[in-house]
Parts: sequence; C-alpha cells; structure tokens
Amino acid sequence: MREVTKESVPFTAAPSLRDTAGMAAALEAARKAQAAWAAMPYRERARRLRLAGTFMSGHIDAIIGAIHRDNGKLPLDALAAELLPAFMSLDYYIRHGKRFMRPQALGGGNLLMFNKRSALVYRPYGVVGIISPWNYPFAIPFSEVVMALLAGNAVILKVASVTPGVGAALAAIFAAAELPAGLFTWAGIPGKEAGPAFIASGMDKLFFTGSTATGRELMALAAPRLLPLVLELGGADAAIICEDADLDRAALGILWSGYSNAGQSCGGAQRILVHQAVYEPFLEKLCALVKALRPGADLGPMTTVNQKRSVEKAVEASLAAGAVVAARSPDYIPEPGDPFADRYLSALVLTLPPGAPAGTAAPVITDEVFGPVTVVIPVKDDEEALRKANESSYGLTGSVWSRNRRRARLLAARVNAGAVMINDHLMSHGLAETPWGGFGDSGLGRTHGSLGFREMLKAQVVVDDILPGAKRELWWQPYSAKVYQGIRAITEFLGGPSLASRIGAIPGVLRIVGRYWSKK
Ligand code: NAD
Repeated sequence: MREVTKESVPFTAAPSLRDTAGMAAALEAARKAQAAWAAMPYRERARRLRLAGTFMSGHIDAIIGAIHRDNGKLPLDALAAELLPAFMSLDYYIRHGKRFMRPQALGGGNLLMFNKRSALVYRPYGVVGIISPWNYPFAIPFSEVVMALLAGNAVILKVASVTPGVGAALAAIFAAAELPAGLFTWAGIPGKEAGPAFIASGMDKLFFTGSTATGRELMALAAPRLLPLVLELGGADAAIICEDADLDRAALGILWSGYSNAGQSCGGAQRILVHQAVYEPFLEKLCALVKALRPGADLGPMTTVNQKRSVEKAVEASLAAGAVVAARSPDYIPEPGDPFADRYLSALVLTLPPGAPAGTAAPVITDEVFGPVTVVIPVKDDEEALRKANESSYGLTGSVWSRNRRRARLLAARVNAGAVMINDHLMSHGLAETPWGGFGDSGLGRTHGSLGFREMLKAQVVVDDILPGAKRELWWQPYSAKVYQGIRAITEFLGGPSLASRIGAIPGVLRIVGRYWSKK
C-alpha cells in the first residue's frame, strides 16, 4: 500500500510568509485582495475554487504522499479520511455557499412594529486566520480555507510545523485557483510565535484547531482585542454499547474510530461503556480485532516521537491507577529504511476491573490520550452509561450503538457532546453538511455545515422603515404626558392581562397613531 506514496512527487512550494516580521505586509496585501475578491460575484469565486478541485483530482497520489511523509498516516487513512472528505466538502460548499450567504427576511415580531421590515445580511469578516493541527493536516485546513474564500474572505493559514509538505500541497492547490495575489497566504511560522503574531496583526477572526491547552492560551491572548475565535479542541469521546447492539458492527466501528490514524483523532472513541449483559462478548470481539491489527498495514505509526511518549505516559499512569491490558496488537517489525520505525506503538484495549483503587483517576478516563488506546467499562443500565459518558470535561463527539433507533436517538440527545452518532463514530467530520464542534473543554463555535460556513460571516441586521410619509416614531421627542399615555395604551393593548383590558386600550392607541405623521 505504501508504494503509492514512494512514487509520488513531493510539492515544493515554500511558505509565502516565513517569519512574524512579514505579518504586517501579508495582512495589508490580504486586505487589498479581499476587497476585490468579496466584490466578485459568488459564481466567479466558485469557478476559481473549482479549479483547485481539478488540480487536486490530478494530484491525488502526490497529496496522499505528502500527508504520509509528514504524518506517517497510512495511505488508506489519508485517502478515506482526508482527501475524500475534502472533495465532498469542496463540492458541498460551492453548491450551498450562496444560500448560506443569502440575506434572510425576518418576520414581524409584533403589531406595534408593523412599519419595520428587518433582514439578516451576511458579510465576510475580512481577513481570517486559520491555525491547524498535524493529525488531519490536510482535510481540516482545506475545508476551512474553502469556506473562508467562498464567503469572500482572505486567509492566512498556518499548518502544523511538523507537516510542511502538506502546507506545500495546500499552497499548490490554492495557487491553481487563480486567486488574486495576497488573498491566500501560507504562513510557515512556529506555533509559539504564530499565536501572538496572528492575534496582534489586526486580522478579523481566528479559527484554531488543536489542543485545549493551546486553545485556552489563544483565547487569553485574543481577549484584549476581543478577536472572535472558533476553537476546535480535544476530546475523550464516549461510546455507549447497548445490550441490543449489533456487536460485530459495534466492535468494527470502535476499532476504526479508536485505532485508525493510530488513534490520533480528536473525535475517536476512547471510553467504551458497554451494557453488562454484553460486556464479555463485546470485549472478546474488540480484543480479537485489536490483536489482529497488522502494524504498518492496518495500524500506522504515531506522527511524532513526542506524541508516542505522551501516550506511553498516559498508559503507564492508567495501569498504575488499576487499569489492566486486555489486548495488545503485535509489535511492529521495522522494514529497512522505514522513517517511522521508532514511532510505532502497540494498540491496546484496557479494562478497569471493578474496585480498581484509583480507577476513575486513570488518564484514559479523565484525559485525552490521543493514541491507539481504548478502555472498555461495564455499565449496568442506560442511566449509568450516560452518567459515565457525561462525567468528562470534554464534549466533542460520542456514539450510541443499538438496534433500536428510537432508544438510540433518545440516548444520543442526552450525551454531552457536539455531535453524536448512532451505530457509527467519528465519521461526521467527513460529512460537509454536519456542523462540527464541541461542548465544554472541546471548544467554541462550529466548523463545517451551514453553521460552520456562517462562522466565516458577520451577521448584520438591517431594519428598514416602510411607513409612507412618517415623520417620526411614536416615542421620539418632545416627550409629554399625552405621549406617555399613548404609549401606555399601546403597552396595555399588546400585553394587557385580559381581552377586556386590551379592547379597552384601543381608544388610547387611536389617539396617538397620528403622531407618526406629525412634524411637531
Ligand atoms: P497543538 O495545540 O499543539 O497545535 C495545533 C496547531 O497550533 C499547530 O499548528 C501548532 O503549530 C500550533 N500551535 C502550537 N502552539 C501554539 C501557540 N501557542 N499559538 C498558536 N499556535 C500554536 O495541537 P496538536 O498537537 O497539533 O493537535 C492535536 C490536538 O488537536 C488534540 O488535542 C486534538 O484533539 C486536537 N484536535 C481537535 C480537532 C477538533 O476538530 N476539535 C481536530 C483535530 C485535532
């Protein structure tokens, strides 16, 4: 499978912005380009972004190669969970973006305001910053850049420092879209410098995807400027396996969502809460699948040695807190010349035997592990499953596995997570139409879908007065007892305690309505 990537040609573009000193010039160029870009008809912006799609379809293997080389991700993971969703999102946003931007008429709220016609109009922010992580280095920034540009913004993008080859691929793709000079900037700035530089630059909104710790730092930095932020952060997702679930599907689904991409998925299943009636058979199935994972073929390496160490530490601390290894995938036997040879980790299934001394303090329960590790926990009923699912400070995604859709939907509505899947997990990031974003420590705001697209736009209200010849509103100066009584009558008419009191207010209302046309 990896031969595909060996043959692929790397992208060679360099970041157009290499240090923070160039930020002011990049922002100025972006502002200039954005004004012209936003003034173009939507169909012209869409036409140019289609060119990016055409370029992408001519370079599929090269893009997969760039993702694999930077991240270690298996080509099939890169194809199914990055490139395929990117194509689908490009098509979806091009087709629906115009509708998301269309002004919306707001119906009248009450009789008194009969003379007002209100609408919501959507305007691009201007210059949008995007900072993206290494775990889905292509799909995450790609769809955000597409949404931002279609909405009429300029973009300054910083990809994770460990994935520069993917940055080069994105630069080549957006270069193919014939964008005005300066509209799209790839900033090759280290993470620690990028946050302060982006925020101080004067850009208009920042989209950050990464760890909760960095998200908090950025929010604090953004506070003095009141810079709007969208924060897509970590997760420690729960999956609830009901006793009526299809256990074969559930085990395969947990395997994919917990162990694909070497478990480095923000929305991967981590805490598997299994109804006690099916705990043993489910655990047996999941353990068998994990033991059969072939490192290098079904299970890739960790992206960085640091991340490998971080997972090892979380596992050690979980074992010290009473967790037990129920299954381990075979060790990786490095192929000669494998650049990722030192980054393989065995996939683990952990359990927490009842009465484990400090079991609930195990990082696999309390923290995001971000590696190929799940913990399987028996629960006695739905209520216990929900309580345990919701005791995490994170709330990114979750899942419910049951053959009874009604029951599953009712349970899903009580899981504290921004997206809950039934009989599936994690994959909604790949559905362009479903907004993505977490509750609690998992972040703020949304990306993807109509809500994500609108995060690229400022909602503005326009209120128009349509009463012909009206010189004033009833409550404008000069004030007088007569005006007070008239407005009091209107208040009584709209909100009086009984029908009789409302009817009784009508003469007072009629006495004041002529004031609309009065010059005095
Ligand atoms: P990270 O926070 O270390 O880095 C994310 C990005 O921010 C990278 O581009 C990095 O270079 C940059 N960065 C680092 N420090 C920075 C700083 N002080 N100021 C500005 N930028 C900075 O996260 P990571 O390790 O790259 O990614 C893994 C994390 O991302 C996990 O917690 C994962 O759950 C989360 N994640 C969340 C989502 C989501 O949609 N909610 C998606 C993918 C990953």
